Amino acid sequence: MTPPPHPAPELSCVIPAYNEEGNIGLVIEAIASKMKRLDRDYEIIVVDDGSRDNTVQEACTFLTTYPLRILELSRNFGKEDAIMAGMNASLGKAVIIIDADMQEPVHTLRTFIEHWDEGYDMVYAVRAHRDDEPALKALGSRLFYWMLNHMSSVRIPPHARDFRLMDRKVVDAVCSLPERNRFMKGLFNWVGFKTKEVE
Ligand code: UDP
Ligand code: MG
Repeated sequence: MTPPPHPAPELSCVIPAYNEEGNIGLVIEAIASKMKRLDRDYEIIVVDDGSRDNTVQEACTFLTTYPLRILELSRNFGKEDAIMAGMNASLGKAVIIIDADMQEPVHTLRTFIEHWDEGYDMVYAVRAHRDDEPALKALGSRLFYWMLNHMSSVRIPPHARDFRLMDRKVVDAVCSLPERNRFMKGLFNWVGFKTKEVE
């Protein structure tokens, strides 16, 4: 991995990526231009989760242009572990998790950061609707969260995405948990803190 920036940046944007050669450049550029417009000090951490395509090579072409670090995992571990690896490597006062496939609206970053400035420790996105999903997947998802929320004392928002901003104290709390098989959206809420939902 490329050496960490010094001094530590204000924001770390962590991108888990598995076979994203077609998207990784676009998402890096979208984040970089948004951060520039918002005038924020940032770093981007691409976590390559054992891709079999040219994700790493594509990402490498941006190393000299943007404050970018690339973390290469030794094999495909799955997105939850990729997110954890990125959070562990991050240095920012807040961490933003964003998918490489450009399904997340980058313009929402402004709102995330505004709520963080207001004092929220975690700001996460919820889907406005699930119309883009097959009916069976949407039904399965509803059933899953219904059961989960009946079994657990911590509410796990059903439409939440991994797409979120976390203050350093949330990142440190999540990273300190001993769980190995992680359901990140559950752990993010389990640790507590002042949270805000954004559509
Ligand atoms: N991803 C990953 N490892 C995997 C599968 C996915 O790092 O084994 C990454 C993927 O490249 C993307 C993000 O995790 O940036 C979300 O993946 P996906 O779009 O498949 O999930 P969904 O949109 O259904 O949450
Ligand atoms: Mg996706």
